Amino acid sequence: MEIKNCPVCNNSNFSNHIESKDFSVSKESFIIVSCDECNFHFTNPRPSDENLGKYYISDHYISHNNSSRTFFEKVYQLVRKFATNGKFGLISSFFSSGRILDIGCGTGDFLNKCKSKNWETKGIEPSKIARDQAINNYNLDVEGSTDLSQLDGEFDIITMWHVLEHVPNLNETLVQFNQLLSKKGKIIIAVPNLESYDAKYYKEYWAAYDLPIHLYHFSKKSICTLFEKHGFSLRKTKGMKFDSFYVSMLSEEHISGKKNFIKSIFVGIISNLYGLFGKDGFSSCIYVLERSK
Ligand SMILES: [Zn+2]
Repeated sequence: MEIKNCPVCNNSNFSNHIESKDFSVSKESFIIVSCDECNFHFTNPRPSDENLGKYYISDHYISHNNSSRTFFEKVYQLVRKFATNGKFGLISSFFSSGRILDIGCGTGDFLNKCKSKNWETKGIEPSKIARDQAINNYNLDVEGSTDLSQLDGEFDIITMWHVLEHVPNLNETLVQFNQLLSKKGKIIIAVPNLESYDAKYYKEYWAAYDLPIHLYHFSKKSICTLFEKHGFSLRKTKGMKFDSFYVSMLSEEHISGKKNFIKSIFVGIISNLYGLFGKDGFSSCIYVLERSK
């Protein structure tokens, strides 16, 4: 499916940014283009909405999987626990409690943390396996439908942790945010950052391009441009310091078939130093957005 107009500014002239491939499932090649007008990067052409599902079937997609058999999975589970506490720390810096919507809530670890701290929670998760775990393990209120117009009332916080890059209807989603967010509410978006050191180092092997299931490839500037178009402004950004290591390991695996722990840790540390002291940002970033007025 070819995108004829830039999802952010509607311009129709694009340049090729990079060609990479689906390393996990199909091994097919895909192209990421950048808009000549606003520099927004997106996968083009991309699979049609109906065909996108088949690219998600992979052993590597462990974010919906609670197993901890190997050393790598054990570390991943530990990091996930740290990450859950970090995410909760961020939302509680804005509100002591309230109503939260987590879009793409996965197995519900983060929402369960919120629920245990007296937040009223609502989750959306299209994957049945993950959704069933969230419901059965934590007794959470989780919908399978991604149609946000079905939701009632307002939310103080709307979160999308590594989800916005997967959403086919980007602008419709942001229009819905306007309907669903309370007056002083915050939208929290975590996405990979294509200007990070590890993105530039690994080029077409950078695992966070994750083609073709990542439809958009964000930078801080493109997040701001997209959200400003819908009446939101950036309040705060935060780096995700663990992602550089995880992404570097997967990228190394794309190059050599091995995770190459030592080198991945080295690249991850450099990426985090660039995130801390440079201007291009961390491997993945969290953006907090609120209404412009
Ligand atoms: Zn554009």
